[in-house]
Amino acid sequence: MALAPSRAGQLCVAAMTDAQNTAPDFRVVVIPVTPFQQNCSLVFHTKTKVGAVVDPGGDVALIRDAIRKTGLAINVIILTHGHIDHAGGATELKEVLGVPVIGPHKADKFLLESLPQSGARFGILTARAVEPDQWTTEGDEIEIGGHDFKVIEAPGHSPGSVVYFCEKARFALMGDVLFRGSIGRTDIPGGNHVQLLSSIREKVLPLGDDVIFLPGHGEASRIGDERLGNPFLQE
Ligand SMILES: [Zn+2]
Ligand SMILES: [Zn+2]
Repeated sequence: MALAPSRAGQLCVAAMTDAQNTAPDFRVVVIPVTPFQQNCSLVFHTKTKVGAVVDPGGDVALIRDAIRKTGLAINVIILTHGHIDHAGGATELKEVLGVPVIGPHKADKFLLESLPQSGARFGILTARAVEPDQWTTEGDEIEIGGHDFKVIEAPGHSPGSVVYFCEKARFALMGDVLFRGSIGRTDIPGGNHVQLLSSIREKVLPLGDDVIFLPGHGEASRIGDERLGNPFLQE
């Protein structure tokens, strides 16, 4: 699988083309949303054009515009965790699209319930509380863009953070657990630095060095690159 360079502008396409051709029908479009420039993404099957919106933190008009431009049929909204920049637009988008919200783990319920208050604090006044149609737990299999993604509980950045991992495409939706060259912040309510490091070491790194992941902020990376070079993961 190759990392494609992003196009300039608001709408970047990270084409997930596989050298071995095991998953050539899988694409991810990234839409940076909210003042936090969070990587909301459209994950879809190139043939059926059916896909998911992952982490619609806000700027719902921008997300809808990207859906229109790509001509996708969205059948689900997926959340990696309950923070404002990832979940603040989920309820509005759910009402517009008429699709269920899946995830994160129930431990983030308190965050999803207090999104309007978080929104007021950060100037995201459109944020609304979210009541997911389905919480996710370790080992669940969720279909995203016609591919099976396994749910991996990875608490620490928030108590209910989960990673969605597609074994076949060797691709993970990472949320704010691990970034290119950094890790999720833990100085916010529910954060736990020791727990985050053990989630990364025990749950994320074992997925494999070849796995490409899209984090909640910044550029995509490979797990092997982070295992070897991420300053937070060196003993
Ligand atoms: Zn977060
Ligand atoms: Zn974030």
